[in-house]
Amino acid sequence: MQKPTPMIEQYLAIKNNYQDALLFYRLGDFYEMFFEDAKLASQELDLTLTARGQGANRVPMCGVPHHAAYPYISRLINKGYKVALCEQTEDPSKTKGLVKRAVTRVITPGTVLDEDLLAGQYNNFLVALYGVPTEPIGFAAVDFSTGEIFVTAPANDTELLKELSIYTPREIIVLESSLKFIQGKLKSDQYLITPLDNSYQTSNQAAAAYPNYATKTAINLLYNYLKETQHCSLKHIKPSKYYHTQSYMMLDSNAQRNLDIFNSQHKTQGSLFEHLKHTYTAMGTRLLKQWLHKPLLNKQELASRQTGVQNFSDSPVFLHQLQNSLKEANDLERLTVRVVLNRAQAIDLKKIEQSLAISYSIKKELLAKMKSISLENLAHKISDATIDVMKLIKTAITDKPLAGNSNIIRPGYNDQLDNYKSSAKQAKAWLAALELDERKKTGIKSLKVGYNRMFGYYLEVSKSNLKYVPAHYQRKQTLANAERFVTNELKMQEAAILNAEAQAKALEEQIFTEVLSKIANYIKPLQQTSAALAEIDVLQSLATIALRYNYTRPVIHHEAHLKIEKGRHPIMETLLKEKFVANNLELTNEKQILLITGPNMAGKSTYMRQLALIIIMAQIGSFVPAGYAELPLVDRIFTRIGAADDLLGGQSTFMVEMTETKEALEQATNRSLLLLDEIGRGTSTYDGLALAQAIIEHIHTKLKAKTLFSTHYHELIKLEKQLPRVCNLHAKCIEKEGKIYFLHRILPGGAEKSYGL
Ligand code: ADP
Repeated sequence: MQKPTPMIEQYLAIKNNYQDALLFYRLGDFYEMFFEDAKLASQELDLTLTARGQGANRVPMCGVPHHAAYPYISRLINKGYKVALCEQTEDPSKTKGLVKRAVTRVITPGTVLDEDLLAGQYNNFLVALYGVPTEPIGFAAVDFSTGEIFVTAPANDTELLKELSIYTPREIIVLESSLKFIQGKLKSDQYLITPLDNSYQTSNQAAAAYPNYATKTAINLLYNYLKETQHCSLKHIKPSKYYHTQSYMMLDSNAQRNLDIFNSQHKTQGSLFEHLKHTYTAMGTRLLKQWLHKPLLNKQELASRQTGVQNFSDSPVFLHQLQNSLKEANDLERLTVRVVLNRAQAIDLKKIEQSLAISYSIKKELLAKMKSISLENLAHKISDATIDVMKLIKTAITDKPLAGNSNIIRPGYNDQLDNYKSSAKQAKAWLAALELDERKKTGIKSLKVGYNRMFGYYLEVSKSNLKYVPAHYQRKQTLANAERFVTNELKMQEAAILNAEAQAKALEEQIFTEVLSKIANYIKPLQQTSAALAEIDVLQSLATIALRYNYTRPVIHHEAHLKIEKGRHPIMETLLKEKFVANNLELTNEKQILLITGPNMAGKSTYMRQLALIIIMAQIGSFVPAGYAELPLVDRIFTRIGAADDLLGGQSTFMVEMTETKEALEQATNRSLLLLDEIGRGTSTYDGLALAQAIIEHIHTKLKAKTLFSTHYHELIKLEKQLPRVCNLHAKCIEKEGKIYFLHRILPGGAEKSYGL
C-alpha cells in the first residue's frame, strides 16, 4: 500500500485504540467500517462489501445509515461483539480539510443503554470478577441502564456459580492476570469475557468503603471500565451495597431448572416466575425477578413484604385502582438514567412527568387512605422533592413534543426564544401576504411567490407579463416561459426568517440541555421514587395472585417445624381439568425424613415440588397455595428430581444423579431442604436399594436436613423401624378389576405393595 489517504490515516490511528471493537466511523450520513471490520460486519449483517479508494489505496468498506444504525448495532451486540462509535467532533461545514473525529462511546453487551437495544423487563448486568487462589472472589455486578450495583464475595465455586446465575451477566470483565484462574472456575464458555489490563485497577472512590482487596478490585474494574467505554459521568450509579452470599436462600441452577423457577421444561406448564408475574411496569418485573433470585432469610423483612401483600389483597377495590394507575406509569428508573446521561429526548421528559404524576396520585389518593404502616413507609419513599421536576417539565416542555428535539419548549418559558419565534412568524406572515400585495401593485394576476434551495424565496412572472415588472425587481433565474425575481425587501425578510429560526433552534437546544441538567440534580429522589413504584408493583402482583387463587399468608418462624394443611401445587392446580387434590405435610425434628412410596404417576414428585415452591414463594414474601402454613426459614433447597433429563450432556442419568446427590450431601445444613426423587433408579435394583438406604442413613444421622425421599422400592419402608426420625407416607391408589386408580392423596404409612417400574 502507498501512503494512505489522510482520512484512512485518521481511521487507522483511532482504530488502533479499539482493537477489540468494530469501529463505526462516521462519514456524513453513514457509519462506515473498513478493512477487517468491514469484512466481518458485511458477513454478520449481510451488508454489501464495497471498497474505498483507487489502485493500491483500495480498502474494503461497508456501512450503515447513521439514523438507522441501532438495529445493526443490536445484532452485533447480541452476537457478542463490541461497537465503538466514532463521531465527527466538529462541524464539517465550518472546517476545511479533514474533520476531527473521536470515539464517543463503546457499546458492549454489558453496557448497553439504548432503549432499542434493551429488553424492558430484563436487567442487563455487567459483572467484574477478581480472584486469587484460596481467597474469596471479589464480585461486583452493575446494571448500567438502571444504576443498580451489587457487591459480594463468593467463598467457593458453588457460591460463585450461584451468584452468576442470579445476574446472568451479558459480559464479565476480569484482569488479564487472573483470566486463567477465573475461566477455570466458570466451567463454561457461555459467558462473554473481556480481559482488562492493569491500568483498570486504578482505585476509585466507590471502592474505598471495602476492606477486602478482592471486592475493592472488582469495583475498581467496574468503574474504570464504564468510564473508559462510556465517556460520561457515573452519577447515576447508586451507592454499592455489600451483601453476604449467605444472606439469601441458596437455589442452585440445578434446583432452578428442576423446579421450573424461571424457565419451564414443560410445553404446557409455565414457570413460577411467569405465574407470579402480574406486574404492570418494567421496573416491577425486573424487581420481581430479583426477589425470586434472592429469597430472604430475614423474618422482619418478610413480614413487611407480607403486610404489603395483605394490605393490597384486603382491599380489592384499591388494588384495582392501583393497577389502573400503574398501567400508565413508565420505566421511570431507566428514563431517569437517560436524563442524567444527557441522552433523553423531550418525549422522555413527558413520560417522566406522567410517571411522577402517577406516583403522587398513588401516594396521596391510594396509599394514604389505606391506613397501614407498611404502606405508609412505601408512600414515604415516593419523594415530594420530585414535585419540582414535574413542574419544571410541565412549564418548560410542550404537551406533545414530537420525536426529535425541535419545537419542544413551551411558549412563555423563555422570552428570548418567544421573540425569535415571533420574528420568524411575522416574517412568514409578510411573505404569505406578499403574493397578493405584489399582484395588486403590479397588476400581474399570475404572479407567484415560490421557494427553491438555490435562490431561496422568489417572485415568478410569466413571459407574457414581463413588460409589467417594476424596475426594482432583480432578475435571478430564467425559465422556459417565466422569469424569477427578488427584491431587497424579500431578501431581508428571508434573512430574518432564517436567522430567527436558527437562533431559536440553538436557544432551544441550550434550554433543553439546561432542563436536563436541572432534572439530573434530582437523581436521588427520582431513583427513590422509581424504587418505591417498583416495589408497589411487585406487592400488588403478589396480592393479585393471592386473591385470584385463594392463597394464605404463611406463618414464618425460626423454629424447626414445618406444617402445611391442604397444600397445592401453584401451577399444576391451574392447569388440571379435574380438581387438584390438596395434601397435608408435616416435618419436625422428630419427623425429619418423609419416605414416600407408591407407583409411578401416583403424585409423589408433584407433592415434593409443591413443598419447594411453597417455601420459595413464602420466602420472597408471597402468600402460598395452602389452607394453612407454618414454615421455618430454609437456607437451601436441593433437588434431585427426575424429569426431562434422562441424558444430560452425555452423562448417564445415574452419574448426574450421583453428582447432584453428592453435592447436596456435602453442603446441606440442618436448615436445608432435600428433595430426592427415585434415587437409584438408574442402576440395578439391588445396587439402587443399597444406595438409597445408605443415603437415607447418612441424612438421618449426620446431616439432620429435612428431606422428602420418594421411591417405588417398597423394601425401604422398613427403615421407619430402624431410624427414629424416618416416617413413611404413601401415595394412595386403589386397584379395581386389574386397573390402578390414582387418588393423588398422600397418606401416612408405607404403600401396601411393591410396584415395579
Ligand atoms: P409420580 O412422581 O408419583 O410419578 P407425579 O407427581 O409426576 O407422579 O404425578 C403424575 C400426574 O398425576 C401429574 O402429572 C398430575 O396430572 C397428576 N397429579 C399429581 N398430583 C396430583 C394432585 N395432588 N391432584 C391432582 N392430580 C395430581
